[in-house]
Amino acid sequence: MATLSDQLLHRIREAHRRRTLSWWERIYLPAIAQGLWVTSVHFWRNLFLHLAHRVGLFRRIPAAVTVQYPDEQRPTAPRLRTRHRLMQREDGTPRCVGCMLCETVCPAKCIYIVPGEHPDPSVEKYARSFDLDLGKCVYCGYCVEVCPEDAIRMDTQRHDIAAFSRDGMWLDIIELLHPGSRKHTDPPKKFIQLELEDFRRLKQSG
Ligand code: SF4
Ligand code: SF4
Repeated sequence: MATLSDQLLHRIREAHRRRTLSWWERIYLPAIAQGLWVTSVHFWRNLFLHLAHRVGLFRRIPAAVTVQYPDEQRPTAPRLRTRHRLMQREDGTPRCVGCMLCETVCPAKCIYIVPGEHPDPSVEKYARSFDLDLGKCVYCGYCVEVCPEDAIRMDTQRHDIAAFSRDGMWLDIIELLHPGSRKHTDPPKKFIQLELEDFRRLKQSG
């Protein structure tokens, strides 16, 4: 009697067995003609519809639209995971209480936090330093899920994470609190440690 693993192996072999192509398929010309036909249909249909829309005809039938990225960007679904940000309190200090849960749970080990004592005993700690290496991040969202303070989110709608160097993918605490504040050419302030007053000053300076 065939065991489960034998059946599985048989199915895998069957799935990988190459089908023999007929001579008609091997000359590839029908496939090329088919591809050209599909492209041409879309091209002429869109050209016709765009011209017709110009003169007020067939406006209910949509034509294909090319988005001129990066000058134009399509809005994405709000639940899409995009670049991280750290949430602020009203005075500009981080909402993060330095509990280290996100650093611990992160499967890529790309979060680095240095907590500091907070003068308010009800807050206990704050993140003096918070760095995230996007070059290692796998966008799993565990850091967001695990945070007890809703202090980190992945909702910036920023997808432009390409960089010329690994340092360009590094998010320091200032960039995390104020997404987009660092220019592409500026080096990150890796492991910078800030006092509460520094965060307040940053918020006031905009
Ligand atoms: S999204 Fe995942 S991999 Fe990226 S920082 Fe958060 S926990 Fe780590
Ligand atoms: S889980 Fe939240 S509160 Fe805890 S260190 Fe991470 S961001 Fe800060």
